[in-house]
Amino acid sequence: RAKQEGKGTYRFFEAAMGAQIRERRSIEHDLHNAIENGELSLVYQPQAQLETGEVLGFEVLLRWNHPVRGLVPPSAFIPIAEESGLILTIGEWVMRHACQEAATWTRPLSIAVNVSALQLGSDGFPHLVQGIVEETGLSAERLEIEITETALVRDPHRALLALQRLKELGVTIAMDDFGTGYSSLSNLQAFPFDKIKIDRSFVQAVHTKPQAAAIVRAVLGLGRGLGLPVIAEGVETPEELSFLGQEGCTEVQGYLFGRPVPINELTSLICDNVIVLPRTLMRAAD
Ligand code: C2E
Ligand code: MG
Ligand code: MG
Ligand code: MG
Repeated sequence: RAKQEGKGTYRFFEAAMGAQIRERRSIEHDLHNAIENGELSLVYQPQAQLETGEVLGFEVLLRWNHPVRGLVPPSAFIPIAEESGLILTIGEWVMRHACQEAATWTRPLSIAVNVSALQLGSDGFPHLVQGIVEETGLSAERLEIEITETALVRDPHRALLALQRLKELGVTIAMDDFGTGYSSLSNLQAFPFDKIKIDRSFVQAVHTKPQAAAIVRAVLGLGRGLGLPVIAEGVETPEELSFLGQEGCTEVQGYLFGRPVPINELTSLICDNVIVLPRTLMRAAD
């Protein structure tokens, strides 16, 4: 009987696995055509000065509007794009479009682009970025690339060379999701980071988990010690903002300041020096 049950469980498991594999294949297959079919688009999320709410720039986030599945979140297709190598084509598309867009802005706001491990380690990545910057006319100083620590582990030497070349171009290098990877501290010493992004999992737990508050405080102290600006991601409430302000955080990003939206919804932020967060909210957070 146990044997029977075991077999049943196994069959169930096998079927579930099969479905998962088919699902992945189907996503990979559709992703191949997504660029050509115009199914990919970009949304932009403001990054702001904590004190004033002034917009400093935007992070670009990829969106896939699948004809049948609808909006597929990055978490459901970026890993597949990375494993299949498609991220190279897709990443280049993101970089080119983001730079093209930012080059038209009337204010020299920064533009932060997420770059995956495979891209950073690919042949001639810094050269590709240089080409895009030249072709779009964007000043390289306005371009920021966000990389996670996992981008450094596969081939640290290659990653270092690529980051050094990018820095020579004038590009800013931000460590994304700081605290969620591994050996973060030695990475800060070994790689030429210009900026640290505290992961939103810490930010969103500052009032529920004392550990998270301690970690956020420590990262802010680390930034001060290293002379690196720290930006907090995933700021959703005035209470979180208030905590960050008290602890000396200077830059913020999160739903409280603005959700990621298509560029046409942001023209006022780009053209005028509009304060994203209503003053009243800033004061409430004091
Ligand atoms: P990430 O780079 O850490 O981006 C921040 C994520 O947090 C985004 O999710 C953003 O929408 C979300 N977020 C921002 N503020 C808040 C907030 O206040 N509350 C909550 N709950 N979430 C917030 P998204 O757009 O789903 O992207 C997820 C991840 O996918 C990104 O994490 C990044 O690792 C990856 N990704 C997105 N676009 C690209 C891309 O063009 N290239 C690559 N390689 N990866 C990308
Ligand atoms: Mg990011
Ligand atoms: Mg992040
Ligand atoms: Mg994150």
